[in-house]
This record gives sequence, structure tokens and C-alpha cells, in this order.
Amino acid sequence: MKKRVLSVAIAATSLFVISCNHHAKDLPADNACDPAMVENIQYVIVAEQQSSANNKAYAQKATEENHNNVAKLFSAKSKADSIRAEKHKAVLASMTDTTKLAPRPAIKKVQPKSTPENLKQSINDDEYQVTIVYPNYIEQAVMAGDSLTVTTLQWAAEGRKNDQKYGLAVLETVSKNGNDMSVSDTWYVCPICGSISDSISKAGTKNCNECGIAEEDFIVVNN
Ligand SMILES: [Zn+2]
Repeated sequence: MKKRVLSVAIAATSLFVISCNHHAKDLPADNACDPAMVENIQYVIVAEQQSSANNKAYAQKATEENHNNVAKLFSAKSKADSIRAEKHKAVLASMTDTTKLAPRPAIKKVQPKSTPENLKQSINDDEYQVTIVYPNYIEQAVMAGDSLTVTTLQWAAEGRKNDQKYGLAVLETVSKNGNDMSVSDTWYVCPICGSISDSISKAGTKNCNECGIAEEDFIVVNN
């Protein structure tokens, strides 16, 4: 009996995987990929756009407070967030007709606090995405056999983990020294996956850890 239930489950899964093949542009929204997956991708698009807007506001505040190197980190993080949002948007467009989807909540305007507080807030947001949101959504995409979505979500999760690592290190430096003079004054953003770095190797010698493009192609954030 158990065996029969399992076979039915496998058959149902196979059917689903075939229907979710990222060629669903001509299908109505309710006949595309798993609606839960569409919801998940819509959620991470807004989450990355919101994070990008927050980090942009934090960058402006850091500049006002004369933390120019922290401002550059926030700008790099904001750029990375928007790259991730665009990647997620491309995945969504390949899943379904996005014009038929209900609009998502608008991005909220954040009220920046002090730079150390803003760093903490940004780190906490990374923590939430890295430990709760992305692992859950990656698991669902893996279950659905949707490799394009799995890759994009994994890049985003690793990128957020990396952002958090730099945020924590910079917060520690600023808290200890009371200034950001020893924080890197140049940050690099991978234009494909959004991974950030405070240094790159000599031109042409290394590639992005996540997506593999040459580090010399990274976007430079230094003002
Ligand atoms: Zn990359």
C-alpha cells in the first residue's frame, strides 16, 4: 500500500516538474509554476528591493556622519541587493506572466538612525534572509527540481551571508576605533550574482566564488 502511495507521489512530482519548465510565458498566472514558488520569488524581489533602499539611506546617513568608508560598504550592499532583485525578477518572468500577478507591497521609506545602529539593522536583515527565508525557499525549489531557481536563490543566500560577514567586521572596527579609517575605502560588486568584496586579485587572476566571472569585471564602489 505504501509503495503505491509513493508511486503516485512520484508521478505527481514528475508531472509538476514537466509543467514547470521556465517556458510558461504564454500561460495564465494561475497555470504556471507552483503558485507557492511564484509567491516566494515575489517575496524575495521585494525583500531585496527594500534592503537596497534601506542600505542606500544608510549610506547617505553614514556620509553625513563622516563615516565615508562605511557609506561605501552600504552603497556596495545596496547595489548587490538590486542585482539580486533583478535576477529574481528574471526567474519570475521565466516562470509566469508577471502582468497577471497581483501587485506586491510598495517599498517603505526607512528612517536611518546612527551609523552603528544602521549597521546592526542591516546585519539583522541579512541574518533573517540567510537563516530563515532563503534556506526555506531553496529547499522548496530543490524539491520541485527547479535548477534555475535553486541557483539564483543560492547565489542570493551566499551573497547575503557575505554581506553580513563584512557588516559585522565593519561594525566591530567602528565600535572599537570610533571611526572608519581602517575600513576599506573601495568595495567591489559582482555584476552577475551580487557578491561583494573589499579587495580583488590582480586583473584576470581570480574569479567570483559564486558565479565564476572574472573579478576584473566587478563593479568598483569608491565614492
Ligand atoms: Zn558572482
